[in-house]
Amino acid sequence: MAGPAADTNTQQLIDPFGRAISYLRVSVTDRCDFRCVYCMSEHMTFLPKQDLLSLEELDRVCSAFVRQGVRRLRITGGEPLVRKNILWLFRALGRHLERGALDEITLTTNGSQLEKHARDLKSAGVARVNVSIDTLDADKFKTITRWGNLDTVLRGLDAAESAGLKIKINTVALKGINEDELEDLIHFAHGRGADLTFIETMPLGDIGEDRTDQYLPLSIVRARLMDRMTLEESAYRTGGPARYVTVKETGGRLGFITPLTHNFCESCNRVRLTCTGTLYMCLGQEDAADLRKPLRASSDDAALDDAIVDAIARKPKGHDFVIDRRSKTPAVSRHMSVTGG
Ligand code: SAM
Ligand code: SF4
Repeated sequence: MAGPAADTNTQQLIDPFGRAISYLRVSVTDRCDFRCVYCMSEHMTFLPKQDLLSLEELDRVCSAFVRQGVRRLRITGGEPLVRKNILWLFRALGRHLERGALDEITLTTNGSQLEKHARDLKSAGVARVNVSIDTLDADKFKTITRWGNLDTVLRGLDAAESAGLKIKINTVALKGINEDELEDLIHFAHGRGADLTFIETMPLGDIGEDRTDQYLPLSIVRARLMDRMTLEESAYRTGGPARYVTVKETGGRLGFITPLTHNFCESCNRVRLTCTGTLYMCLGQEDAADLRKPLRASSDDAALDDAIVDAIARKPKGHDFVIDRRSKTPAVSRHMSVTGG
């Protein structure tokens, strides 16, 4: 549980480049009920359970960040909703929303368990969910996710909508797989009043196949869309890597996350915590801080607080992603499901 200092958040985490760290992404599990082709191999080996932070430890570490000025938390994974008793964590963290120390708790999910959990998430204080949907074709959905079922996810979307959750849809643009469907996805998302964000594949973790086959630059996607739709530049920002346009024909918002072709580091306000308590100060760099050690060394949070301050003092200026066409090895060896997308 959080220490006695949890009710004040007067401090601010400022990195060496003057960026205030106000956003924490937390992977609560590396496990998943899907096996998306760009994310993991079908026979992915997962971490031993004892390596994962317990829900109580996740609460303690998130609360430490809130105490030091983090205003937004995103819970991700793996698939966060497959973690046993995960609603407990959402409810526990909800106390920071109630006392005004946190602006929002959001969730990134594949939607497979949303039908079951949407109402409880909403009552725990979650206002928005990001749901990943790469295709609206049931067969293709099976091909991309290997183990997923589109109907289940669409029922999850309906449940989220009925529960009053705001929805954003994330779509990874994949060469030769869903590139012919991206316009349909815009109409689908915007027709439901949801924002849509296209994501470029990132070279994170070995997936058992060649990533250069999947890579579709969003600059190409954007140019193609502009032949058919009017994309108006938008000043809307979330502090994250997405750049937004408004699609005139639908009135909806469309984001582009292009880590490989653009540099979004100068406004980076975020850090990422893995499900084992390792803090990555940059998605594209290997330097990390172990927060599990201070968490487990003492029930007092002083060492944990110090470790967080020390880590932020090492946040690098930016990343350097490359899909290496000769060696085909990932630029960063850890999987997105461990770091948290
Ligand atoms: N399981 C949840 C989901 O799929 O939404 C949350 C975790 S997943 C790792 C978070 C996001 O990362 C998803 O939108 C997924 O499509 C995206 N993602 C996974 N691997 C990726 C990769 N190598 N490049 C780009 N996006 C990736
Ligand atoms: Fe699971 Fe999300 Fe990775 Fe797909 S992208 S395998 S749903 S963690």
